Amino acid sequence: EEQAPLDLNQIIRKILKFLEAQLRLSEVFLDLRLDDHPCVVLGVEVRLEQVFLNLVQNAVQAMGRVVVPRLTITSRITDCLNLTTMQKEPYVLVTVADNGEGIPEELQKKIFDPFFTTREVGTGTGLGLSIVDRIVRGFSGHIEVESVPGKGACFSVYIPQYRPAP
Ligand code: ADP
Repeated sequence: EEQAPLDLNQIIRKILKFLEAQLRLSEVFLDLRLDDHPCVVLGVEVRLEQVFLNLVQNAVQAMGRVVVPRLTITSRITDCLNLTTMQKEPYVLVTVADNGEGIPEELQKKIFDPFFTTREVGTGTGLGLSIVDRIVRGFSGHIEVESVPGKGACFSVYIPQYRPAP
């Protein structure tokens, strides 16, 4: 697939627009804190849309029983160690956080495995996060999860910042 420089802020705005009705129906309070500057990475638009669509939909599902569901999405540039070059390099960091049921410590590693799901039979394939992980790796990035069960979950997506050669 052909990769191109893409602004993750624009991709996030696009998928939020797409999910607008769903977010309103679920009465989710959206706390959107995108960097004022473009957060450009080298990627494929539909793939990156799939990543954030999945993360936001999982978050909404996790908040199904929460009285005041709150979705917080942030983006920024941050220096991160590139394990290939062993240099600190600028990455775009996008976090998607919810105040839903959270993920027990012992499951936090397993949720990225294909077919791992805690949803009722027939309602989840367990493929979402394995695909998200594969897409993000395909763009030289990585994904992490932090969670306090009962308080919520936060997914951090790191992808190298695209900078045109000088
Ligand atoms: P599916 O949504 O089909 O179950 P995923 O791979 O997207 O597949 O998610 C796997 C599992 O990870 C879910 O069944 C759920 O247990 C857990 N999970 C994913 N996102 C969240 C979240 N934001 N909060 C709590 N649990 C989550």
